[in-house]
Amino acid sequence: MSDSIAAISTSMGEAGIGIVRISGGNSIEIGNLIFKGKKLKTLRESGNRRLTYGHIVDPDDGEVVDEVLIAFMEKPYTYTREDMVEIYCHGGIIPVRRVLGLILDNGARLAEPGEFTKRAFLNGRLDLSQAEAVIDIIRAKTDKSSKVSLNQLEGNLSREIRRIRDDILKMMAHIEASIDFPDEGIEGITHEELEASSRIILEDIKRLLDTSDRGRILRDGLNTVILGKPNVGKSSLLNAILRENRAIVTDIPGTTRDIIEEYVDIDGIPLKIVDTAGIRETEDIIERIGVDRAKDRVDEADLIIAIFDVSQDLAEEDYNIIDIIGDRESIVLLNKSDLPSRWDREDLSRRLPGYRMIDTSIIEGEGVYELEQAIKDMFHAGELKVESDIIITNMRHKDQLNKAYRDMESCIDGIISNMPLDCIEVDLKNCWENLGKISGDAIGEDVLDRIFSEFCIGK
Ligand code: GDP
Repeated sequence: MSDSIAAISTSMGEAGIGIVRISGGNSIEIGNLIFKGKKLKTLRESGNRRLTYGHIVDPDDGEVVDEVLIAFMEKPYTYTREDMVEIYCHGGIIPVRRVLGLILDNGARLAEPGEFTKRAFLNGRLDLSQAEAVIDIIRAKTDKSSKVSLNQLEGNLSREIRRIRDDILKMMAHIEASIDFPDEGIEGITHEELEASSRIILEDIKRLLDTSDRGRILRDGLNTVILGKPNVGKSSLLNAILRENRAIVTDIPGTTRDIIEEYVDIDGIPLKIVDTAGIRETEDIIERIGVDRAKDRVDEADLIIAIFDVSQDLAEEDYNIIDIIGDRESIVLLNKSDLPSRWDREDLSRRLPGYRMIDTSIIEGEGVYELEQAIKDMFHAGELKVESDIIITNMRHKDQLNKAYRDMESCIDGIISNMPLDCIEVDLKNCWENLGKISGDAIGEDVLDRIFSEFCIGK
């Protein structure tokens, strides 16, 4: 029998309700020990998956801890495929902590981060890519990214991977037959046929890989850096974007307070603007962190928005910025266009050839719409239909696909250079295994631990 784990599954803070969950062999017994219903003697009398009203009572001294609703869910039709109990307490830190404390005193242990979902995986309810989708749904920044993850949770990625793996398996079966019965001729397969099938598989893998850049952006946000000398209009721009769009502010755990990531939902594209605190204080990012680190930031960025002030002569800082963005894809804003221009736009165009330049007067709201359009154009350059397509959002999946792609390339090389069939089969088998690790077939305990440790406690 599995040990029982428990955790607070809602986020900590003031709220209407807070939910504490128990999963494992003893969960219903533990529920019985601490729950007193009005008429019921035991939880089971309330019926599977039915909410029951009552109180959580400390069995040691009879003290009432909270007024709750409780439900038990019998295996196997539960999230973890184990017996589960959910207790709906009053929200707020104290009631949920006290209820959790009682549960832990009465036979459960505190769940590790992601342990509920890990059990769902280990008990076969979800495959690994589906389990990973759960964390992505929790973290999704926009409707679109949530949709992509939901798609993955429903098993669309798993099905596609399974289909490709089946095709590889069929090839391997043909090869085996050719090796075992070289003279029969029926099951035999020619090198040409092998090459054709391999190329189809290679294409299938490539199609998935091709979605991964935008997939990462959907999941993690378009890493955006706004550059500009002091007073050029950075915070005004930020405020203008935030005013028009939904913003999600997150603090990154484990970092100092002054790095704040702010997400803005631009029509489904999560724009992640790093270091907004620095921008807000109208400090110059370059001055504050130095040119070298600013360069690093720019190297990591998916999008650079460089702002220049047309009402002033180009200053040394402007030239620094031109230097830093180099040939990176950026959007250049020529701001304060409501004021008389002090310089020749052609001059900047010559220094920054090929850049998108937008005339803005952020203070009057001019050009902000064009900026957002430009961002959307950049993102949608490859036409991505989020609703229907399978999109690779997870770096681990991308790594596995890359490995599988290389295996398939090596397989095709082998076929072309007439290698013996059993050598070709080795590449096919590697490819099959590397794809299998996406759905979690034959995956090591260490990898599992790493994946699930990313989850929050209670999920
Ligand atoms: P930051 O230091 O780059 O963050 O610049 P701010 O956004 O704080 O703007 C500095 C000053 O420029 C403020 O007084 C803004 O009102 C002003 N400003 C920003 N954009 C424009 C604009 O398009 N036209 C004019 N005339 N003033 C602007």
